[in-house]
Amino acid sequence: MDVIPIKSIKDIPTEEDIFPGTPTCAGCGGLLALRHCLKALGKKVIIVNAAGCFTLLSIYPFTPFQNSWLYTAIACAPAGAQGVRDALDILIRKGRLDPEEDLKVVVLTGDGAAYDIGLASTSGAIYRNLDFYYICYDNEAYGNTGFQWSGATPFASKTGTTPAGRISPTGTELSKKNLFEIWRSHKPPYLATISPAHPVDLINKFKKAEQYKGPKLFINLSPCPPGWATDPSHSAMFAKLAVDTGIWALKEAICGDVRHTFVPKKFRPVEEYLKGQGRFAHLFKPVRQEEILAKIQEMVVQYWNEVQDNESIKK
Ligand code: SF4
Repeated sequence: MDVIPIKSIKDIPTEEDIFPGTPTCAGCGGLLALRHCLKALGKKVIIVNAAGCFTLLSIYPFTPFQNSWLYTAIACAPAGAQGVRDALDILIRKGRLDPEEDLKVVVLTGDGAAYDIGLASTSGAIYRNLDFYYICYDNEAYGNTGFQWSGATPFASKTGTTPAGRISPTGTELSKKNLFEIWRSHKPPYLATISPAHPVDLINKFKKAEQYKGPKLFINLSPCPPGWATDPSHSAMFAKLAVDTGIWALKEAICGDVRHTFVPKKFRPVEEYLKGQGRFAHLFKPVRQEEILAKIQEMVVQYWNEVQDNESIKK
């Protein structure tokens, strides 16, 4: 089936699927992306939400969603999704649910569940070829418990558990796990990274993914004003800078074949992305940590050099 991509933000439906006034923080980049994700997924959706920031979205008896929502512990959203998928399949088989009324099963998690605590149940679900969508709002730390380090935290970010100081001027000394490649090694049909600053790219990826039965991953880099120590009104700007500096690569993998969906014509220096964020402030003051800044830039250059070697990039 050929998918007709949308071409501009004018093609994005204006109708919202999340009502305004949620308890998440002002400027939450995860919520901004989720609005677009739900527009792309349509109305027939059931969300299975691992404990995390977005647990705050539905607090009984209030919910901003128009669709069904199920809350699970942080480790087991994919297991919950399996139960929901099985129940829907049984209802369809018994003739109690019209296949036209079938629901898309969507796991919604933060990076703590996706990169760390829920990785085992996720691996099991991909291995079983569970037909589900998996959206990770990745703010690169455990956001709603005080911004502690997670497996998604990037090198040199300061977090609640990796402070920058005399003992470790770097802050976080480990690098971010590569969740995209962890998933890809399981050979699922569709994987993508997305950004709230690129809604057309985001929506087209969901349209494409819809053609495939099986596990479908979407990792959204989610600016997080309280954790990143940024102004809520700057979230879209930081999401865009992450892409323009090459720190956040927009890509997809269809049946294992990776393609970058947006490549900046000219990469901006990573410093432009790091500079305005409090979590990286120690790299600039009281003294500039040139070696660390150069290392971050070098990591990005190396990534894109490898991309250039492995893919013909269409600009
Ligand atoms: S802590 Fe960050 S990720 Fe969590 S709701 Fe607030 S802005 Fe969003």
